[in-house]
Amino acid sequence: MFEQAVQVSEAFRQSADQMQGSLHMALKGCPECKTTQMIASPTLGICEECGSDLVVLTRE
Ligand SMILES: [Zn+2]
Repeated sequence: MFEQAVQVSEAFRQSADQMQGSLHMALKGCPECKTTQMIASPTLGICEECGSDLVVLTRE
């Protein structure tokens, strides 16, 4: 029982690491307004303020 619990938590930790990796690509922003927002759809769309194409932001 205990060993099983350890394996499950290990698998959970690994999947959490992978999720953190994908989060680095989960922000989009407007290069003109410098605004950022979460990517919630497959398409980036355009800025609501100025109409510029939104770009994917990567964190350093
Ligand atoms: Zn804009």
